Amino acid sequence: MMKKRIAIFGSTGSIGTQALEVIEANPHLFEVEILTAHSNDELLIQQALKFNPNAIVIGDEKKYARVKEALAATDVKVFAGEQALEEVAAFDTYDMMLAAIVGFAGLQPTLRAIENRKAIALANKETLVVAGDIVMRKAVENKVPVLPVDSEHSAIFQCLVGESRNPIEKVILTASGGPFRGKKPNFLLNVKRDHALQHPNWSMGAKITIDSATLMNKGLEMIEAKWLFNLRPEQVRVVIHPQSIIHSMVQFEDGSIKAQMGLPDMKLPIQYAMAFPNRIPNNFPRFDFRKVNTLSFEEPDLKTFRNLALAIESLNKGGNLPCVLNAANEIAVWAFLRNRIGFLDMTDVIEKTMHYVPFIENPTLDEYLESDGEARSYAASLIQL
Ligand code: NAD
Ligand code: MG
Repeated sequence: MMKKRIAIFGSTGSIGTQALEVIEANPHLFEVEILTAHSNDELLIQQALKFNPNAIVIGDEKKYARVKEALAATDVKVFAGEQALEEVAAFDTYDMMLAAIVGFAGLQPTLRAIENRKAIALANKETLVVAGDIVMRKAVENKVPVLPVDSEHSAIFQCLVGESRNPIEKVILTASGGPFRGKKPNFLLNVKRDHALQHPNWSMGAKITIDSATLMNKGLEMIEAKWLFNLRPEQVRVVIHPQSIIHSMVQFEDGSIKAQMGLPDMKLPIQYAMAFPNRIPNNFPRFDFRKVNTLSFEEPDLKTFRNLALAIESLNKGGNLPCVLNAANEIAVWAFLRNRIGFLDMTDVIEKTMHYVPFIENPTLDEYLESDGEARSYAASLIQL
């Protein structure tokens, strides 16, 4: 059997490094063809030496010489800069892109890979939040599968196996509630980055960890679900489930609900997307019903966690509003991580930016890119960056 040649965009991140663990554990199934990193040259070099890819990209051009020198004795091709991401995405020599860059930066390389007819294992949810209609349309045109890596969407995708003729009534995304579940605005006012970075159930990159604390992550995931599964906004629901054992659910037209369950471990959805339609045996810890005897559920508190309310508004209105929401959120989270603004200020930045940028009902790709730029500079001006 031919090995699947994987291109990991964002290989030094939380998803990227876990994907490399999956590949290392399954050398008979996968090989590494491309690795990319933004600024962590040390780790990228180590990964290149270990997995011997055909090509790598270091985003930060100042680090090119160091990386090139460290790999001088190998035949790994080294590229640098943002443009190089799109160039290697257009290579013919890989089978699947694992899109694991964080944020808007993941959009263009993913579009290139789709145009290049490569299968996509999609971790980068922002890609669908920004331009989900265009991404999914291009995927259909090019007959490219977009396989979800996000655990909720992987859960839904797994529930849908064998159900292709059965319409979905609704999907129910589960949310852990993050570190501040049950807290009120007077508490959130004084929350600092280090506290917000402590997620109860998952260890992830900084941006998504803050998004989980504000519940913006769940809002982005609602939009992601709409595009992945071709749903109307009202078919996408959220329930808080603090144990993170049910990863999400699908309700069909007969009222029957399917759930996908397991211990929270991103390696599972990563390997499911990489090996689909097969399951790969592993010895990860198993969920034991006798040890966890309560699975609980509650409504999200939209009055306290207003980022989720704003995301739902953008989901309902559509057009360029999710793109604007996403851009303002990326700036707000960036500023919060540097202690430049408070936890609740993030919501104000997003809300004001959503009011400021002109609404476009059916944006072209260029209009999405312009909306993103406009939203970023307005959000930055609010924070006086
Ligand atoms: P991370 O911050 O740990 O890693 C991000 C990766 O992207 C790094 O390799 C970094 O070098 C690269 N990168 C960052 N900025 C870049 C830029 N401007 N240009 C090019 N490359 C850049 O992030 P993560 O937690 O691994 O998340 C990656 C994506 O997967 C995000 O979209 C996130 O929402 C999604 N996701 C993550 C998890 C998780 O458990 N970490 C779960 C579900 C979905
Ligand atoms: Mg998720």
